[in-house]
Amino acid sequence: MDNLCSLLPSSFIDDDFQILMDIHVSSLSSTFDLKEKDMFASKELLSKSFYYIAIKNNFEFKTVRSNSKSIEFKCSQDNCPWYVRASRYKGGELWRLRKYIANHNCSINVIQTTHKQASASLISDCIGKDFSSFDRSTPNDIMIHMRTKLGVNVSYYKAWRAKELVMNSLNGEAKESYALIPNFFMKLKEINPGSISDKPYQ
Ligand SMILES: [Zn+2]
Repeated sequence: MDNLCSLLPSSFIDDDFQILMDIHVSSLSSTFDLKEKDMFASKELLSKSFYYIAIKNNFEFKTVRSNSKSIEFKCSQDNCPWYVRASRYKGGELWRLRKYIANHNCSINVIQTTHKQASASLISDCIGKDFSSFDRSTPNDIMIHMRTKLGVNVSYYKAWRAKELVMNSLNGEAKESYALIPNFFMKLKEINPGSISDKPYQ
């Protein structure tokens, strides 16, 4: 964060905006919102932030443009002014929210059967830490959990995909810690050259 701030022109550092490096959906407050000039570590993070806002506020939006330089969202209801435009900041990694009209004039409390913005990755973010024995939870458990926690309906398929994502990331973490073992033996050799790891097969 500090490093990042030091890369920015100092005139841009004021109370006017926040820089989001990561968000954890399960710990966000229900009043979470964004404002123009806010910055994001990536386009994915920016999208995820708006997915969350849409779910919490019970509306859906559509992506009207998305490329490597800019992204635009519109409320899914025609003629509603809700609108987002963001673009890459000075050709770097950061993205900046350029235009954000947060008001709706549509009736946003229409209950959708399943929420468009509740993507599998957002769901996996939400549920990752909530289940004590995750491998035994079913997509149905996940659907109920999302309903209770965020008041959102998600499809069976998305719940199943979200479970896959969480399982993959848990397995990935296990692999990473195994990968540290050879490193540990290297260190041991450095510290104590005569240790058994030096000549394991003799
Ligand atoms: Zn709207």
